[in-house]
Amino acid sequence: MASVTLKGIGKTYPGNVVAVSDFNMDIEDKEFVILVGPSGCGKSTTLRMIAGLEDITEGSLYIDGRLVNDVPPKDRDIAMVFQNYALYPHMTVFENMSFGLKIRKTPRDEIRRRVTEAAKILEIENLLDRKPAALSGGQRQRVALGRAIVRNPKVFLLDEPLSNLDAKLRTTMRAELEKLHAKLQTTFIYVTHDQTEAMTMGTRIVVMKGGIVQQIAPPQELFDKPCNLFVATFIGTPQMNTANASLSISDSSVYLEFGEGEARTRLPLPEWKGKKPEVLDYMGREVIFGIRPNDIHADSDYIAQHPEQVVEANVELVELLGAESNVFINVSGVEFAAVVDSKIRLESGSKIKIAFDMNAVHIFDADTEKTITN
Ligand code: ADP
Repeated sequence: MASVTLKGIGKTYPGNVVAVSDFNMDIEDKEFVILVGPSGCGKSTTLRMIAGLEDITEGSLYIDGRLVNDVPPKDRDIAMVFQNYALYPHMTVFENMSFGLKIRKTPRDEIRRRVTEAAKILEIENLLDRKPAALSGGQRQRVALGRAIVRNPKVFLLDEPLSNLDAKLRTTMRAELEKLHAKLQTTFIYVTHDQTEAMTMGTRIVVMKGGIVQQIAPPQELFDKPCNLFVATFIGTPQMNTANASLSISDSSVYLEFGEGEARTRLPLPEWKGKKPEVLDYMGREVIFGIRPNDIHADSDYIAQHPEQVVEANVELVELLGAESNVFINVSGVEFAAVVDSKIRLESGSKIKIAFDMNAVHIFDADTEKTITN
């Protein structure tokens, strides 16, 4: 069990490649922290610096309050699970799991006890005599986890551990990992490029881009209050709709206006949002606004109750997904995706009335792309 503290952590690779800059975070004991972001944003580098597999160029790293910048990996009391599992093909599952303990000269009885216990937690007791070639992808993944568990580490580092599994198994293993985290009561730091994985598992998520931390927050907060346009569009599926817009004030109401030419659409912002001082600063200025597909409503009750939010839309395409449909609409020349109940029958090519929940609209500075509403 351990806390991990990153203070101004940075990494510059030879050739002046800045992979991570000024990473600051206090990870508490027993947290399940996820580092997420597009490929190349510095997630693995950060994890490898915590593991001690990569030198830290700048800043200080503490594990349980101890400065570990210069402590070798084996003395950091951490265990890392890799994407490719890195199992030894010529060894049985038991041997693979016990290898790390053996080289640490752990007594035989102790090794057997720990491997049996880990195998039980992972439900692979019946596989201990098999070799990796005779295991499924999911079973190999469990062995890789088992090898980490037997070492009883203070911190688990996991680098895209599910990316080699098929979609169905990934979903199962996600739930398994959450259970494992609850059982082991240990700090987990987990890297993934998959925002769904991040949203379903983490207690806190770190969104990175270009080596820079964009936002650190629990999943729901990240979804509800993204700090900038990048986080807003990276988190959540289907992706948040965004469009250029302008803000204006008339008759003491604040309006958001978007679209092309004559046919611009003008919608009032609710008072609590429109009258925020941060928003009032933007009157008459260009902004970017965003609305999630689930915040565009097609059901007649909602529309009847919110006449001020209703717009005319052309339905361009309807994708039936089962209980819900993805509907692609055009409002004033701007395309939006909406997720609606499939019971509401919408036809491609038709004109409909649809409501934009203006309480859920996000507005960003057009230059800095930082939020002005959250
Ligand atoms: P992620 O895990 O988010 O995909 P990485 O941490 O692997 O990103 O990489 C971050 C940046 O550092 C990338 O631009 C990558 O090309 C670069 N990088 C990673 N490893 C090395 C290395 N050994 N030498 C030079 N540049 C590297």
